[in-house]
Amino acid sequence: MPIQHPSHITVLTTGGTVDKIYSLEGELIIGPPSVPELLSPVLSDINFTVQSVLKLDSLDMTDRDRAVLASALEAVETQHIMITHGTDTMPETARYLQANKKAQGKVVVLTGAMQPASMRASDASFNLGSAVTALGLLEPGIYIAMSGRIFPATTVLKDKARGIFTQGN
Ligand code: ASP
Repeated sequence: MPIQHPSHITVLTTGGTVDKIYSLEGELIIGPPSVPELLSPVLSDINFTVQSVLKLDSLDMTDRDRAVLASALEAVETQHIMITHGTDTMPETARYLQANKKAQGKVVVLTGAMQPASMRASDASFNLGSAVTALGLLEPGIYIAMSGRIFPATTVLKDKARGIFTQGN
């Protein structure tokens, strides 16, 4: 597998649990993108651009929202793109983007977290690191990096009972 060493990664954020925080009123809400803070301790030659596209729990995401995301994806000029996304409908969005064909020739990896990045025991950093590494290794296409594995959009599933992403048929 060729190693590409991306020099620039664009991160499109859409909300999801990874970006959830407690409001002053004690409600769990979607906060600002967590990626800049997650990346702040990382020393790397990769340049990151973070763009907030949507701020939704992915259970509330409609195909109209996915069309907004697809347009944002099409407008990205870098070859390597990460999308942070709620885990519940991440496979649906990955398949939508694949069918939509707005990212031909690009490497696109979706990731997120089961626990908010703002929580100490979050899987957010682990998943973000997996996604960054995957971007340098994959051929153009749409993928999900979750549960320590990389899945093509076509067959990935979330096993909601276990909170683990798996390979369907
Ligand atoms: N309901 C959340 C979402 O899909 C769950 C998560 O992100 O883990 O946005």
